[in-house]
Amino acid sequence: MTFRAPDEPVLSTLNLDGTRRWMRPVLQPGQFWRRRLLTAWGLIALFVGLPFLHIGGKPSILLDLPSREFTFFGVTLLPTDSVLLMLLMLAIFVSIFLLTALYGRVWCGWGCPQTVYLEFVFRPIERLIEGNRKSQERLDKQRFPLRRWLKFAVYAVLAVVVANVFLAYFVGVDDLMHWIKGPPHDHPAGFAVIAATSVLMFLDFAWFRDQMCVVACPYARLQSVLIDRKSLIVAYDSRRGEPRGKLEKTTLERKAGDCVDCGACVTTCPTGIDIRKGLQLECVGCTQCIDACDTVMDRIKRPRGLIRYTSQEEMETGKRPRILRPRVVLYPLLLLVIAGLFAFAVARRGEAEVTVLRGLGDPFSMQPDGQVANQVRVRVDQHGDEDGKYTIALEDAAGKQLPDVTLVVPENPLHVRGGQSVTTIAFVLAPASSFHGGVRRVVVKVSDGEKQTSKLPFSLFGPAGGAAP
Ligand code: SF4
Ligand code: SF4
Repeated sequence: MTFRAPDEPVLSTLNLDGTRRWMRPVLQPGQFWRRRLLTAWGLIALFVGLPFLHIGGKPSILLDLPSREFTFFGVTLLPTDSVLLMLLMLAIFVSIFLLTALYGRVWCGWGCPQTVYLEFVFRPIERLIEGNRKSQERLDKQRFPLRRWLKFAVYAVLAVVVANVFLAYFVGVDDLMHWIKGPPHDHPAGFAVIAATSVLMFLDFAWFRDQMCVVACPYARLQSVLIDRKSLIVAYDSRRGEPRGKLEKTTLERKAGDCVDCGACVTTCPTGIDIRKGLQLECVGCTQCIDACDTVMDRIKRPRGLIRYTSQEEMETGKRPRILRPRVVLYPLLLLVIAGLFAFAVARRGEAEVTVLRGLGDPFSMQPDGQVANQVRVRVDQHGDEDGKYTIALEDAAGKQLPDVTLVVPENPLHVRGGQSVTTIAFVLAPASSFHGGVRRVVVKVSDGEKQTSKLPFSLFGPAGGAAP
């Protein structure tokens, strides 16, 4: 079978023959790069510091997936808070839509951990060990260059550190420290999670790199619908730059447009694109091409800004676009509605949430004394920081006690610590003759005697004819 190479690159990270095109961007330390450097190190300090920061005795952020409990700045959302969680996720998505509509891919270029760690931690180490672009390309042609292995060794150590910081958001600093300090055989699952995350981090920053932005990230794929002609983008001013042409070195005279076709904006691009071809999905808005071109413009004594932050509309008309437009009004309105719903849901949530579920296994069992036993699971999610003490009782629909029914609970009243959930299994014993059609309806009352009382209807099952066969 023969394969025909495509006429033009399919992806900026692939050569025409389908092999990987490794990006070796030239660093352009201009004004935007210095601002990004400061921002990046501020963010790295934040990424590393947040899991250690405690608010009201709780981690500032803890995404406990196994327990489905999510803590944000002192507030814990429990599995029963799915509406709040959904609203929170919705608010995050709408905020991202708004940010993108206004400022394009500012998140990708300035705030995303992938960019921050790759461009301000891993790539500087690469340049330190392997040298500049030319030196790195020379190493690409060698079989086992020592400097590359040294780089991978440093990357491996860093990947373990970054992986541990990442995991701290999911397991908490205390558990993570426990995993790190103890021997692996004491906590094989924890060790496996750390090892797997470290390997993934290493592969991402040593091998996958720019492909995360170019082919994998769903946010990048959504750009074409999230931005419009008025959104802020990094763009090349073709009206000013074209026709491009080489500079007369002796006189610095320009007979054509301002672009001297030096290629500096291309060799610095971490995703390997040429911004002069127009807006492309691969552009992460890193501003390196702005810094590169500004340096060239300074050298040839032309005004800066041939490549600059602008919008498609401004590029075409020369006029600054109006910020206000339907989506920029609609998104904040949506955010307001979500905030209102969120506040309403929080106000209605009360001190605790009580859930009553049927026990696992057989729906009922017959006791030697002829009583029918039902298993009931009672779960209490304590929302506030205060501990709660809940008494579980049974009554009928009119609120009267049930003298013929016995409730057996291992702990009654039930103690629930603030922000935690407790599930207890109760047994309900009722005479077989009290069932009609195999069912007896009762109400499970869970009360702390003061602020919180939940009354939940529950159907006990029993023999259909009133007595076991
Ligand atoms: S850096 Fe500026 S002058 Fe050089 S090729 Fe790019 S756009 Fe043209
Ligand atoms: S085109 Fe410019 S802003 Fe976009 S990724 Fe490349 S260097 Fe960064």
